[in-house]
Amino acid sequence: MDYRLTPEQEEFRKGFAAWVEKNLPAGWDPSRFRSFHSSEEWARAYKIFQKKLSDAGYASMHYPKAYGGQGKSLMEEVIVLQTLASACMELRVPGMITHGMASPTILTCGNEEQKRKYLPRILDGTHIWCQGFSEPNAGSDVANVATRAVKKDGHYVLNGQKTWTSLAHMADYCILLVRTDTSGPKHRGLSYLLLDMNLPGVEVRPMKQMTGESEFNELFFDDVRVPLDMLVGQEGQGWQIAITTLMFERVLGDAVMGVVHEKNFQRLLDVARESKRSGRPVIEDSVFRQQLAQSYIEIMVLKYHGLRSLSRQLEMGVPGPEGSIGKLLWSEPNQRISEAAIGMQGLYGQLVAGSPWSIQEGFWQYVFLRSKGSTIEAGTSEIQRNIIGERCLGLPKDASRVARQK
Ligand SMILES: Cc1cc2nc3c(=O)[nH]c(=O)nc-3n(C[C@H](O)[C@H](O)[C@H](O)COP(=O)(O)OP(=O)(O)OC[C@H]3O[C@@H](n4cnc5c(N)ncnc54)[C@H](O)[C@@H]3O)c2cc1C
Repeated sequence: MDYRLTPEQEEFRKGFAAWVEKNLPAGWDPSRFRSFHSSEEWARAYKIFQKKLSDAGYASMHYPKAYGGQGKSLMEEVIVLQTLASACMELRVPGMITHGMASPTILTCGNEEQKRKYLPRILDGTHIWCQGFSEPNAGSDVANVATRAVKKDGHYVLNGQKTWTSLAHMADYCILLVRTDTSGPKHRGLSYLLLDMNLPGVEVRPMKQMTGESEFNELFFDDVRVPLDMLVGQEGQGWQIAITTLMFERVLGDAVMGVVHEKNFQRLLDVARESKRSGRPVIEDSVFRQQLAQSYIEIMVLKYHGLRSLSRQLEMGVPGPEGSIGKLLWSEPNQRISEAAIGMQGLYGQLVAGSPWSIQEGFWQYVFLRSKGSTIEAGTSEIQRNIIGERCLGLPKDASRVARQK
């Protein structure tokens, strides 16, 4: 396959990149790695920018016009996503789950009424969504979800707890996995709901991460009454729909993370050029040169794997299990690259954002700490390898999971 853009696509890319440059928030400096002082400010900036994207005809290029999209091809959407990832990744963060997981799931598995009601408000930036799958006893083993939804007086009444819910403190809605049936195999008793986060009985408690940020939360439900028309698919189909959500999450990661890593690699080269060890530039040190070359190799593998996944999606219409390969290719090298960057900084490697002597505003210290979670979120590295073994290589099913599903 020829991975170059056609002349028309290249023209579109240039036009869009010029539009982005003109429409970034006034006074916002994209070269800084953290610009927002509060999650309210961050969410507001995302919503305003997403509305501009939508008004200019750049929101969800491949979605049908009836739902607020542009009716164009997935290729145009990828050009938009990659341009945004390169120009203003930080502005996009509040919408990561919204666009990467909630909207493709509603588009693929929602009914007509749900698509017409929720998709346009996602695409025009009105609503931010979060993902409530994990619980204290249901992470890798997501079939273990215990949050109960019991049908009563024309509603599902929710009781239980979710955890690690990223962006719930900014979110208006949540894609939620709940238990509607306790008889039979665990994964058959799950259902998939759309939850309005402002309903009485929903409590969001932020959790502090080692980066110092509170990016994820605990969610508590106390007799929350959810209208029955918020069910996606049929009762008992939650497991299959949740897998669809996760496959979309991983593929979007492939398309965007290659661009993010390429950009970060330029920052890494700057560290290597500007840092000195015993009076000599780090870039002349043979150990660091090896690390730079290795990082570059891994980023190129991620980039070309992303293009291969994209060509499959263009051909088949849906993402495949190779999204798990992409997830490993961005999350594990991210840890190694940030370790290399901190090593290159020598004693300055200990200084985090806020110190006047920190290098690149403490960017690599943040990536180093945040990257530890990347091999856990969206499915741990071990789980990705199990998926690759089973679904790409045809190995027998993971025996521990088979036992737990009973
Ligand atoms: C930064 C971050 C953001 C997150 N955001 C969200 C979110 O928005 N929404 C949400 O629902 N969840 C979210 N999560 C939760 C995440 O999906 C879970 O943490 C993850 O699925 C692992 O589950 P667990 O933490 O319960 O660990 P466990 O499942 O208990 O795993 C513990 C260890 O055992 C290993 N293990 C488990 N089962 C197997 C097996 N069968 N074979 C081999 N090894 C195995 C794991 O790989 C891991 O090393 C987030 C997590 C992080 C770190």
